[in-house]
Amino acid sequence: MTENRSPLIIDEKACNGCGRCADACVMKVIEMRDRDDGSKVQVAFVARPEDCMFCEACVINCRQIAIMLNAKAGSSMIKSINENMLKPKKSRFSFKFRK
Ligand code: SF4
Ligand code: SF4
Repeated sequence: MTENRSPLIIDEKACNGCGRCADACVMKVIEMRDRDDGSKVQVAFVARPEDCMFCEACVINCRQIAIMLNAKAGSSMIKSINENMLKPKKSRFSFKFRK
């Protein structure tokens, strides 16, 4: 399985190389590659993990149930988005109120 900090976990044994997940991903996160064992059946892999939006389109389109979101990677990404949204931003404008 492809795991660690990847946004997706791919079960390479279950993957039949259909490419539906790669086609479904508008961010082009997933690509197909040849297997190390020389098999003619390709396997999905996470080519651009940093572009994943955790939309689940790839998961929904996999008939083999061979791909799932990595909850750990997702939660850290969502945490970082939340933190950035909550950071106070400097305004380009300043207002002075008259007394
Ligand atoms: S949709 Fe599923 S079975 Fe098809 S290539 Fe992707 S992970 Fe493999
Ligand atoms: S969760 Fe969405 S953005 Fe991420 S790889 Fe799957 S389809 Fe692409």
